[in-house]
Amino acid sequence: MTAPLRPLDPTIVKVALGERAYDIVIGRGVLASLGARASALKPGAKAAIVSDEAVARLHLAAAESALARAGISSATIVVRQGEASKGFVTLERVCEELIIAKVERGDLVIALGGGVVGDLAGFASAVVRRGLDYIQVPTTLLAQVDSSVGGKTAINSSRGKNLVGAFHQPVLVVADTAVLDTLPARQFRAGYAEVVKYGLLGDATFFSWLEVNAKDIFTGTAARERAIATCCRMKADIVARDERETGERALLNLGHTFGHAFEAAAGFSDRLLHGEAIALGMTLAFQFSTKLGLSPPADTERMLRHLAAVGLPTHVLDIPGDVPGADQLMDLMAQDKKVKRGKLTFILTHGIGAAFVAPDIDPVEVRAFIAEKLA
Ligand code: NAD
Repeated sequence: MTAPLRPLDPTIVKVALGERAYDIVIGRGVLASLGARASALKPGAKAAIVSDEAVARLHLAAAESALARAGISSATIVVRQGEASKGFVTLERVCEELIIAKVERGDLVIALGGGVVGDLAGFASAVVRRGLDYIQVPTTLLAQVDSSVGGKTAINSSRGKNLVGAFHQPVLVVADTAVLDTLPARQFRAGYAEVVKYGLLGDATFFSWLEVNAKDIFTGTAARERAIATCCRMKADIVARDERETGERALLNLGHTFGHAFEAAAGFSDRLLHGEAIALGMTLAFQFSTKLGLSPPADTERMLRHLAAVGLPTHVLDIPGDVPGADQLMDLMAQDKKVKRGKLTFILTHGIGAAFVAPDIDPVEVRAFIAEKLA
């Protein structure tokens, strides 16, 4: 586990990907070092910052001045906040504006925002001029522990989430934990579901530590840095071993097959945030594993208790408004990238810290389980 941090003592986690290796810099106030770190990587580069309206209002000036202090001039591209920006229309605009700003190979795109901005700006960087370098500056808890690391970039199709994308690794991740102080409480809580995911999927000791320290992570003490660094280290190790998700990386999808279906049923709206859907999805993955005799009931009760204690949804009825039916959820799961030859791939578990990939799950069994949960 990571040692306690002093405010000016960032943690550096390395993503060991050979010539595509990069650092994740984690700590309070590290945004101020963005320019120096960028110019050390790319001397003489100019930059274009992609952000959303809410993040730009709060943190754009700090990012711009950090770049300016290192002599880096920057253009700014601001998109509307929310999942709808992860689509073809906004992608086209971002690509055109990068070209207008004359951002070339050798320059830098800076993704300043949550997972939406990171996925969108990352994908634009993958395709403009057949590949630009980009830096992730994640500003949500979810983005700091998950989406900014690992190089998955994408936009949504009208048929489903993240269906148009590319693997394109950033050259640096700068995760300033102080920017999370401005994040709305509900968004922070949703991101915390992804933190819990790491404990549940592969580190029972970390899960136990979270049970004790959750409050401190929410209030922003050194426990927050420690949790983020632990998650990034786990993700970096998994990505280094399986960059293109041919095996182990799929474990990071714990809760996502059920979760994406609920998110889609709620119209990717504020009714159910991504992290909230993942909390519900992880609960169902544990309950399904227990029903199949794979996971001890006590572990399922324990994970459910922790998610509920921090205020995350653990039951379908926790979703406000109409609850989707079993057939609708099955249809939505069939659209997911996790379907192969009619069988569903799930991440199931032998208990807390012991997730595994189950590629051959019979949809009939899943439907019966969902119908039971909706009853
Ligand atoms: P988001 O980017 O929409 O951010 C949530 C909201 O918080 C937005 O309204 C944003 O404006 C606001 N915000 C962001 N930072 C803020 C700050 N510091 N202060 C105040 N407000 C702030 O959502 P998200 O939860 O960060 O990301 C969700 C997206 O990430 C989804 O599209 C999901 O598919 C994607 N994702 C991608 C990966 C990956 O590996 N690429 C992994 C997980 C999730």
